[in-house]
Amino acid sequence: MLDSKPLLFPSDFPALTRRRPTTLQVNLGYRCNQSCVHCHVDAGPKRREEMDRSTMAQVVEYLRLGGTHTLDITGGAPELNAVFRPLVDQARALDIHVMDRCNLTILEQPGLADLAEFLAARQVEIIASLPCYLSENVDAQRGNGVFEASIRGLRRLNELGYADGTSGLLLNLVYNPIDATLPPSQAVLEADYKRELQARYGVRFDRLLTLTNMPIRRFGSWLQSNGQFADYLALLKAAHQDDNLDVVMCRDLISIDWRGYVYDCDFNQMLDLPTEGGAQRADRRLHIADLTDPNSLEGGAIRVGEHCWGCTAGQGSSCGGALASG
Ligand code: SF4
Ligand code: SF4
Repeated sequence: MLDSKPLLFPSDFPALTRRRPTTLQVNLGYRCNQSCVHCHVDAGPKRREEMDRSTMAQVVEYLRLGGTHTLDITGGAPELNAVFRPLVDQARALDIHVMDRCNLTILEQPGLADLAEFLAARQVEIIASLPCYLSENVDAQRGNGVFEASIRGLRRLNELGYADGTSGLLLNLVYNPIDATLPPSQAVLEADYKRELQARYGVRFDRLLTLTNMPIRRFGSWLQSNGQFADYLALLKAAHQDDNLDVVMCRDLISIDWRGYVYDCDFNQMLDLPTEGGAQRADRRLHIADLTDPNSLEGGAIRVGEHCWGCTAGQGSSCGGALASG
């Protein structure tokens, strides 16, 4: 795989500082049952990195300090990790909203037959990737048979009450472009998805989140292999909107890796750019166990690079989808 990190610095992306974090995004590891072409985590079945129980306990200690409204759990396929369910249970016991970034096919994995019921019983919001409502496009990006399995997963979640508008069980889908283009209007595409998924498969969901592909890891390598890296960065930069700087996710979120180290966002985690301020450890990295006062993060400088243009291009992009309406 071609490394894009050296191509991202230096950068003239504007300086950013953090507000008090209200979302804790936790990556439980890089093992996944899929190996998608555009995965910015470079996850797959052969990855072995996984959060252990003692690190999970440190994450829960941080949540107990207060101030965290949302726990956003990601991977890989986080549900494969043995700490996934205890972490969800402990966060819910603290009345923290939990989001699971779920690839849908995981609901059919051997040994996880009760996963959908587990998530519903704990009111876990599901964020599920579905880059198109056409099977050939999804299978091209995510692997053969992924689309059909995803539809079966969505039907199962609907049967449990997800996206019925009354149960409070939220089911949001994620779209990212298949090629080196910016996502279309989130509102327009959401209307298309709702119409087509209902008509073709009888499936419903709450919101569609459009994400911009970041020029890092597997997609960064793909761009380089295809001679499109410089053009894609130029596309992102030309579409930059200053208004998005106030709402990029790193202003209100911190990201934790499977070892417990702290990053400004999931993308910086994948680039191995730990957050500033970890001088108290020999490796100079800030660890979740060091965060005895969440307020200490407020005002901290965020490490930015050329990849950050991906968050501010056009309607903007974050783990929560577009930043602006449109
Ligand atoms: S399902 Fe998600 S984490 Fe797994 S390989 Fe695909 S994009 Fe990566
Ligand atoms: S990639 Fe996006 S979220 Fe991460 S530091 Fe840059 S602007 Fe912030």
